[in-house]
Parts: sequence; C-alpha cells; structure tokens
Amino acid sequence: MCRHQAWLGRDRSVASLVLEPEYGLLRQSYQPRRQQRGLLNADGWGVGLHMPGRPEPVRWRSARPLWTDASFASVAPVLSAGCVLAAVRSATVGMPPDETAAAPFTDGRWLLSHNGRVGRDVLPARHDAESVCDSAVLAAHVFAQGPERVADTVRAVARQAPDATLNLLLTDGSRVLGVTWGDPLSYLVDDAGIVVASEPYDDDPRWVDVPDHHLIEVTPDGVAVTALED
Ligand code: GLN
Repeated sequence: MCRHQAWLGRDRSVASLVLEPEYGLLRQSYQPRRQQRGLLNADGWGVGLHMPGRPEPVRWRSARPLWTDASFASVAPVLSAGCVLAAVRSATVGMPPDETAAAPFTDGRWLLSHNGRVGRDVLPARHDAESVCDSAVLAAHVFAQGPERVADTVRAVARQAPDATLNLLLTDGSRVLGVTWGDPLSYLVDDAGIVVASEPYDDDPRWVDVPDHHLIEVTPDGVAVTALED
C-alpha cells in the first residue's frame, strides 16, 4: 500500500514536509512504521503543489524510488507552497509501473491520491483517466462525480466492491478532504497549518488518528471528522 500526505497552511518547503521529518515520506518509502500491506514504497512518487497566481496545481512525479532522486532532494528545499499533496507508491500487482500511474492525479484545481486497491470492473470505463492503473481510474470517477461528493462516491464504490480499500486524499488548494476506508490517516494541527498523513511523520504527541470509515475535512478554519455510514 502506498503512503501519502497533504499540507494546508503557511508556505512550507516540500523538503520540510516530505524529506526532512524523521519518519516522513522519504523514510516511509523504505521503512514505513504503520503499513499493513507491503514493505516498500519504491514504485515511484509524486508531489502536487498549489502555487500563488497559478489556477491549476503543478506536479512532479517519477517512477523511481524517492530515495534515489538526488535532483528532487536538491530542489525540494526551495520549492514552497501553502498546499501540497505528496505520495510514495507501492504498485498493486498487475498495475503499470510508469510515472503516469503515480499519484497525485489531477483535474482542474483538484489533486487526488489513493492508497489502496479496487477492481477496475466495478468502475465506469473513463477515457479521461490518466493511466489504466486502478487508482487513476478511481480518481477519474471521483472527479466526474464531483470531488466534494467523495464520501458518497466511496460508499457507492464499496457497495459494488466490498473488498476494495479506498483511502483517499484530495485537495483543491483551499481545503483538504480525506477518506479512511481500509487504511489509516492521522492529522496534526500546529501554528503553521494542518498536515494529514497515512502515518505520523514524527513522534509529536499532538497527532490524532482518524478512525476507519470516516471523512476528514480540513480548511483554514480547522478540522472536521465525520463517520461514513456503510
Ligand atoms: N493500486 C494503486 C497502485 O497500484 C495504489 C497502490 C497502493 O496503495 N499501494 O498504484
């Protein structure tokens, strides 16, 4: 299973979010602490950022392990944004290994990352999916249904595919939405902003775990966590 993380708050360097925390995504790419399935997240990575003055987010993705990318490590300290969605990937068996299958996926202002797996046969075929990867087809479906309705969409997909795991993070630059459905999310609020992540990136006691089958909504005003009915 993959690991992912979203940030909403003051401008912050991508290095401080992804590379520098003791147990951040870099470490999680080779030594996750809470991962239930899979040992490594070495099948690529991606970062999406909302930059001031740009209507749509920018992305940097790769099919390589994050720890091998010296160019990214060199640039990440000077790459800053107030909204960032990043992911490291452990490819599901049978899914393509290339960069187009690495999250985050995008549509307009939205970025989306999926931690999990879902049978593509329960999803409508979508020619606008960025990849044939299950996560990309799911992303296209969530975008088509309306990202704000992600909770309804997850419930509907799960009814068709009870074995699917559907942990999601989405952002449009002004808010972060997350869904726990088979894999966890935790969040941390501090003076600079709010981070939501597959697992805590340090041992700060303020991290809060989101229960399974819940929706987390993050805005500049705070965090709301609500239960999803099955
Ligand atoms: N199914 C997705 C993929 O193959 C995500 C996998 C995961 O969460 N590890 O990329």
